[in-house]
Amino acid sequence: MSKSVARLYANINQEMDQSYWDYDNVELIYKGQDNYEIIRKVGRGKYSEVFEGIDIVNRRKCIIKVLKPIKKKKIKREIKILQNLRGGINVIQLYELVRDPISKTPALIMECVNNQDYKTLYPKFTDYDIRYYIFELLKALDFCHSRGIMHRDVKPNNVCIDHEKRKLRLIDWGLAEFYHPGTAYNVRVASRYYKAPELLVDFQEYDYSLDMWSLGCMFASMIFLIEVFFHGSDNQDQLVEITKVLGTDAFYKYVDKYDIDLDPAFDVLIVKATRKPWESFVTQENLKYVSTDALDFLDKLLRYDHQERILPIEAMKLPYFDPVRK
Ligand code: ATP
Ligand code: MG
Repeated sequence: MSKSVARLYANINQEMDQSYWDYDNVELIYKGQDNYEIIRKVGRGKYSEVFEGIDIVNRRKCIIKVLKPIKKKKIKREIKILQNLRGGINVIQLYELVRDPISKTPALIMECVNNQDYKTLYPKFTDYDIRYYIFELLKALDFCHSRGIMHRDVKPNNVCIDHEKRKLRLIDWGLAEFYHPGTAYNVRVASRYYKAPELLVDFQEYDYSLDMWSLGCMFASMIFLIEVFFHGSDNQDQLVEITKVLGTDAFYKYVDKYDIDLDPAFDVLIVKATRKPWESFVTQENLKYVSTDALDFLDKLLRYDHQERILPIEAMKLPYFDPVRK
């Protein structure tokens, strides 16, 4: 019997042809790398080295994401997901798949976004900018969820913004996965500060709503001008930090509802705490971003109970986004 199922888009993959989600059985077709030249390095991740490059034939800039030696299955998953989502709103576009004939190292040729570091970019935003970019991010999330895919690594580093062009793209689909109701997923996904409670209490039957928690952490850091909103020193402390804000009563209610077996280590780590009102994070400096509508939206994102969290399409209808929808 399944304990928890997504409130929306639960059966997307079941309704699709097996070839859509059965990524382990895809056969990848690579082209040669001759048409691309590396210009400079723009980033390095856990699983890749990322370069800005030039597509000589099409005469345009591109991103060359060279994958480090990782499991074939993981490579297939990232590529299949990028192919399935190709053309989707605010999803980074995969142009081509290439491989060096000798080293056999695969690389993804992707759309290039003139990105700025979020640590310097976000504090420059106006109240309207935040509403605008979060709305753009919600479009990307609704799109991938509607295609049966959870991103599982939403965080500022994986959201590229070209502020001049007011263009946002959700990147890094390396941890993304197909959602099949009743599946026990690996909880070792997402980056610590953006990990949802279900991951921290080892509840494996999670769904798309995982991404909405991560979005909530991002949104809180943007409107309150705090670089990291829940700053845990390890995965257990991450949950402790969350309980200090959302309180322990709601936490134990959540644990009971889903019959979660808590690691006994938490018995001493989690100290009884009342819920901290969102207003208590307001300061002189962040006041310009805060409104009843903003706090109402935040409150609907940062819920322990993943089934209670607002969905992207519901969020887009909130009063907070009135100015952007007009
Ligand atoms: P992680 O360590 O987060 O798992 P990863 O190895 O999967 O990373 P990405 O997150 O895809 O790699 O890329 C690493 C970094 O490269 C990004 O944080 C970003 O700064 C840069 N980058 C990646 N893709 C693009 C792009 N299309 N346009 C601009 N910059 C990009
Ligand atoms: Mg990344």
